[in-house]
Amino acid sequence: MSDSLSVVVPCFNEEAVLPVTHERLRASLDAIGMLWEIVYVDDGSRDRTREFLLALAAADDRVKVIAFSRNFGHQIAVTAGLNHACGAAVVIIDADLQDPPEMISSMVEKWREGYDVAYGLRTERAGESPFKRWTAQVFYRLINRLSDVSIPLDVGDFRLLSRRAVDAFNSMPECDRFIRGMVAWVGFRQIAVPYARDKRYAGESKYPLRKMIRFALDGIISFSDAPARLATTVGFVSLAIAALVSLQVFVAYFFAHDTVPGWTSTFLAITFLGGVQSLCIGILGEYIARIYREVKRRPLYLVAITANLPEPIEPRARGAARPDGLPGRALSETRS
Ligand code: UDP
Ligand code: MG
Repeated sequence: MSDSLSVVVPCFNEEAVLPVTHERLRASLDAIGMLWEIVYVDDGSRDRTREFLLALAAADDRVKVIAFSRNFGHQIAVTAGLNHACGAAVVIIDADLQDPPEMISSMVEKWREGYDVAYGLRTERAGESPFKRWTAQVFYRLINRLSDVSIPLDVGDFRLLSRRAVDAFNSMPECDRFIRGMVAWVGFRQIAVPYARDKRYAGESKYPLRKMIRFALDGIISFSDAPARLATTVGFVSLAIAALVSLQVFVAYFFAHDTVPGWTSTFLAITFLGGVQSLCIGILGEYIARIYREVKRRPLYLVAITANLPEPIEPRARGAARPDGLPGRALSETRS
């Protein structure tokens, strides 16, 4: 369907908000006037979320439900929704009404203008503690420094993706999924749609500090090799220090004669070997960073447009359908 819209809603213990969320979503989608479906993903809720969603689905076949066997986390829930969404454009929205469903129509407008990604940019963040805002700022500054893809500040997962952006996202089979980074990596034409972020409608945040730290680490480690390379820098610095110190040690031993027997060799061995060891760990880090990049099996590139070629050549995931008949992994395998 060329004019259909899917909405993906991850839900974890959201029984308190879902009735209102569904009503507001339905009203906003009806107002847009496209064919629509809502894909609710129940991320292993322990309350009555699943029963509520299944009842919605029974009453309206435009409501699709995926219920996980246990809690797999927000980013995995959104991934499952994107894997199953069929629309020509797909919107990701939180269940707690912090992202106003009424904004979806502005995103659809951008999509009609030809944008592939319209992401919500938070101009206000009501009901979020200064601590949460501060950590977010530090985090985005850090990740943009360490990584080649630039991930905009004050942007969450509330966004619209065009079909080709969703397909590109689905062709990234990595396990640790930092969705806002992955969508930034996809490229194509992206634009911000400013909106004021509301307070959570009911219930409490499902992101305690522990999950937030895990999320931040996933982001940095999935989008930057810098941590694996740290040892190289440390190794070079300590070798440089060892070289300087050894000068002083030689002067002390040969000219000043003020050393205790055994000190010179011990001291040199410690500084030099320390440097060599860090450097060797750094070299391992460089290889591990490369292995890590290989095992993520992202497509090498994505094509936006071609000229004078029969049809756009889709990049195959490395390892896709091997000519020798050995098991390989085709791009489409990630979409099932
Ligand atoms: N969520 C989820 N699985 C989790 C945690 C959260 O599916 O393990 C969902 C949650 O139901 C909500 C969205 O992810 O729809 C964002 O979570 P929340 O609003 O609690 O995070 P916050 O807005 O406080 O960062
Ligand atoms: Mg929230």
